[in-house]
Amino acid sequence: MAQADATETPRTRVLENYFRKYPDAPREVILKIDLLRLGHWFTDAALAVTQGSLIKSYRLFSYDFVPMADLKRKESRKVPEHFVVLGGMYGLRPVMVQTSLSPDSPYVIDVVDVKLVLTANGQVISDVRYERAPEYYKKAFPDGTLYHEIIAFGFFITVFRNCQYWGPDEECKFCDINWNARQMSQSKDFTLTAPVKRLDFVAAVADEIGREVLEQDGYSVPLSFLITGGTIKETLRGKTEDEFYGEYVEAVKWGGPRRFINLQTNAKPKEILKWYRSIGLDSHHANLEVWDKRLFEWIAPGKAQRVGWDNWVKWLLDSVDVFGEGAVKPIFVCGIEMAQPHGFKTVKEAVDSTTEGIEFLMAHGVIPRFNQWRREPNSYIVKNHEQPPVPLDFYILLMRNRYEIWKKYELPLPNQSQLLPAARYLGVSHGTHEDYIHLMENTYPPDIVDIVNRHSTPYESFS
Ligand code: SF4
Repeated sequence: MAQADATETPRTRVLENYFRKYPDAPREVILKIDLLRLGHWFTDAALAVTQGSLIKSYRLFSYDFVPMADLKRKESRKVPEHFVVLGGMYGLRPVMVQTSLSPDSPYVIDVVDVKLVLTANGQVISDVRYERAPEYYKKAFPDGTLYHEIIAFGFFITVFRNCQYWGPDEECKFCDINWNARQMSQSKDFTLTAPVKRLDFVAAVADEIGREVLEQDGYSVPLSFLITGGTIKETLRGKTEDEFYGEYVEAVKWGGPRRFINLQTNAKPKEILKWYRSIGLDSHHANLEVWDKRLFEWIAPGKAQRVGWDNWVKWLLDSVDVFGEGAVKPIFVCGIEMAQPHGFKTVKEAVDSTTEGIEFLMAHGVIPRFNQWRREPNSYIVKNHEQPPVPLDFYILLMRNRYEIWKKYELPLPNQSQLLPAARYLGVSHGTHEDYIHLMENTYPPDIVDIVNRHSTPYESFS
């Protein structure tokens, strides 16, 4: 993948130009956007100190700019799920970044002067922390399946690791779910390669996570889980999509106290949503992926044929009546509106289009989330068309607009009731929509740096 604008100018100069151009945007957001749009790499020294950290799960998509087969140091079983950048030359407040490997990136995590740091073109920019793995990451079932391959970071449960939308006429064009499952299996480095996760295993790991959160802080917050996976067009093991996912919802929801269950599937009509609610589902997210109707039909052809844009949007609004305000948060693949050859050609058109979608959805109580597009090499759209990095301006302007619309409609603050202590305060790792709010509204507790440090693996004084 060509990284045209990644190598021409020292990255700090690019960043500082953007800090000047958008003085009202948090600097942390600008850096994080760039880390997600260009990826990052780890030196041997930085890889050597990942021991004990939360390992990358490859939970759904690969979120890498490089195939696993090209990772010659077994990075896929060593790099952290995410890392926190903080401090450094710009005095950054902490933000969490999903690990997205790219050997061509100017951003490299390294150990310099016995400290874990982020560098750009060799210059140290900030400090780095790896989040410590929860206790349950050490456990395995008698058949060898690791608990954390059943539920990642105490939250994320991909119960079906394939998608029945298949081939260019159905599969979402940015998605590498089927390919990612295949590369995990071929690597032979994962203990779980079956496409469907055992219901009893999922329930047992959820219980273990419940026990850990009880020991950790006596359930001071409810415990959230996200159940997700590929589309089931007809049946899977004799079950329809709703029968299949419904079983997991019930098993996780009723296994212990104060559980909040999120489910991601295709959009559903109100009657089916009400049925999900009746079996214990708390929150439903039908990921629209892109707002523009023409682009939706190109980018998500399976969804367009099976459900259609109009139904999808209507059923998102209906979901708010069933699950309540703040409980309907569809994902958009942020930046995909500029994918070529059919995406918008200018930042203005792309920002205007998606901003219109944010305004419409938020006005109806739907809270769109923005997972930044990673340009995975084996997704259809990257394999078949050159995809240069989406301009930084696009992300900054869109996240600023989202923040302003969020404020206008007085929507709730992002809430992460999770096992991971730092994740309760920091924005999600795969996008900057939550960071923008946290940083502008100053929601961090005063001891946020201590909280992050306490839950990190050793990050300095390396011999
Ligand atoms: S519905 Fe689309 S994004 Fe979701 S798993 Fe299937 S192909 Fe991927």
